[in-house]
Amino acid sequence: MRFEYCYSKTGMFACREEEVGRLLMSAAWAAALVSVRERDDRSKAVALGDVGGGDLFELSNAVEKGEQEFDRLLTIWADEGNWTREELRAGLTIVKRIVAAESDASDKEAGSADVELELYRVVSGYVFSFVVGHELLHYAADRCMLSDSSELERTGEFERLLKLHGQNGLLCSLEPLLTTEVLADRCAYRTAATFDSALQRKKTSLPHWKIMLGRRLAVDILSWALAYGPGSPGRSSYTDDMRFLRAGTPGYMHNPLRVVGFARSIRGRDATTDGKEREIICEDSARVAVIQLNRILAFCAGADSRSEVVASVRNGQPMLVNELGVDLPGGVSEAWRTGVFVEESTFSCR
Ligand SMILES: [Zn+2]
Repeated sequence: MRFEYCYSKTGMFACREEEVGRLLMSAAWAAALVSVRERDDRSKAVALGDVGGGDLFELSNAVEKGEQEFDRLLTIWADEGNWTREELRAGLTIVKRIVAAESDASDKEAGSADVELELYRVVSGYVFSFVVGHELLHYAADRCMLSDSSELERTGEFERLLKLHGQNGLLCSLEPLLTTEVLADRCAYRTAATFDSALQRKKTSLPHWKIMLGRRLAVDILSWALAYGPGSPGRSSYTDDMRFLRAGTPGYMHNPLRVVGFARSIRGRDATTDGKEREIICEDSARVAVIQLNRILAFCAGADSRSEVVASVRNGQPMLVNELGVDLPGGVSEAWRTGVFVEESTFSCR
């Protein structure tokens, strides 16, 4: 209900144009980078393992600020060695084409050859199924327009997340949960699951691995947006300004739990074409979740000294590993057990 990306109440629904624009641009960059990487090496594109929500926001923000800022970013990325200036320039060309196609009202359906536009619609569709599904509940006076319960509810997963949110001594509420926000998230999960099933039924020229990657990138974008809120900065702020990373908003479920619910709603684990399972809470969304969960654990334990914080986090983690381990990369469970986080492997999208 807070006016962040969107705001709604009975009969009224409004969004901040610039914030919605930033989410859409991030989705466009996701599609563009997949395409650029695929030209280079398909196996690298399958996981797009070096790209997370923070990168997508960084690129979107730089383009918005103008040519000089974008050029500055190209140099940084090129120096890091994962992407060349030419690749990122090619990405920008694709992003501009997606924006032009989406702005052209006469182009109702993308041509089947336009796989970038299709992938963009998949990623943005997942993100907005959550955002809009949540707000529509408030708009319709706390009634979800999708009346059938989702698989997440039928399997008891939704209840388990709620329980985990408020468990004494482990994760505690900053403030009591607001019923309307819980119902709104439940509705958001139903909407996301419905979007996912519709996508499965639809004829698409996208191969299965691209749809899976689209889910993973949508989770990353949503996770980053929830963690930083409006004006979400890019990846550079992840290291520089961690204190602005929010574990949650009072009255709402903690961010990592909201993201887990979203990921599970859109089939968090799914077989790839090579038969292996792949997590979709990985890269930035996994990093953000780990930091947030540890912060909540320490807060809930009322720890105020550094050693107390470390102890409380250690005590709470085994339970979290049991509850959330399946949704986070195997490296996270391992790092929680051993206390050793290795940047390249702990959060890796395998
Ligand atoms: Zn709300």
